[in-house]
Amino acid sequence: MNIFVTGGAGFIGSHLVDQLIQDGHAVTVYDDLSSGKQEFIEHHLDNNNFTFIHADLVDTKKLIESLQGHDVVYHIAANPDVRLGAQQPVIAKKDMLAIYNLLDTMRRHDIKQIIFSSSSTVYGETPPQPLPENYGPLLPISVYGAAKLAAEGMISSFCHTFDMQGWIFRFANIVGERGTHGVIVDFIKKLRNDPKHLEILGDGKQKKPYLYVKDCVDAMLFGCQHAQDQINVLNLGCDTATQVTRIAEIVVEEMGLNDVTFSYTGGTRGWKGDVPYFQLDTTKMKKLGWTATYLSDDAVRETTKVLLDTNL
Ligand code: NAD
Repeated sequence: MNIFVTGGAGFIGSHLVDQLIQDGHAVTVYDDLSSGKQEFIEHHLDNNNFTFIHADLVDTKKLIESLQGHDVVYHIAANPDVRLGAQQPVIAKKDMLAIYNLLDTMRRHDIKQIIFSSSSTVYGETPPQPLPENYGPLLPISVYGAAKLAAEGMISSFCHTFDMQGWIFRFANIVGERGTHGVIVDFIKKLRNDPKHLEILGDGKQKKPYLYVKDCVDAMLFGCQHAQDQINVLNLGCDTATQVTRIAEIVVEEMGLNDVTFSYTGGTRGWKGDVPYFQLDTTKMKKLGWTATYLSDDAVRETTKVLLDTNL
């Protein structure tokens, strides 16, 4: 198949591309490198089955010309940082324009299938735990979550109006090799700077599921193969969760540090829009036949180990 991957030079996107190429597909990566890195896809550049287009999804002309001839689109591109939404809410506008451009260009080229990297943040701060996919109303508390929910709505509307098929994967926190942001990266950077002291955002009791990136990619491919509704909404997570202070302890252990003091900025949230505790109900993926291989703590430890071998 000819597969178009937006955001394919990013952390999750580049792992997806590795797997798609390994599975024998022809892959086009469309990425503006705003948070992705060319080095993540460098190893494919000489491959005849691989094309890299360095461009922004808001560039409609470029997108129309680039998307032609593809069978399926994985839409992975977005601003990845939930925190940034509080300082620069305008980033949501760009992501919403991007999804509209993409769907409308797919419609013009008669491309019928889209797979989208959504997020647990669409649920907002909601009582049922673990959260099932059919929970509503969905009221995100971050600008990032709102942009994801808007994209889900746009995908659903295009699928129904133009006979397309969509897979919406609501990710837990994804961690692993090539990670460029998030709590583990923050802690490693801070401790490299000051090995005796670590500042932790919030009260450290925030507790969330951390899914290993290879599990995430595996689950997306499995979900697309096995869920065949017109719109398929699937939570992607693991059934355990890790507290932020526990992540700090794991990072300290893996760095071989002693006598590190932790200080807390206080409050229950790390930042405005942070949902301090959530767990995703993964029953739907399990019923399809998929479960994560890593527990949350193990995903955090494995990620710490691989990231410690890099410069970050
Ligand atoms: P990432 O920043 O590494 O990847 C995003 C990629 O999209 C980058 O390569 C970036 O350059 C590209 N991009 C952004 N805006 C673009 C635009 N307008 N045009 C072209 N390219 C653009 O982040 P990631 O962690 O790999 O996240 C991938 C996707 O998964 C994102 O949609 C993110 O919101 C979603 N997600 C991630 C997590 C997580 O824990 N990492 C959790 C939930 C959802």
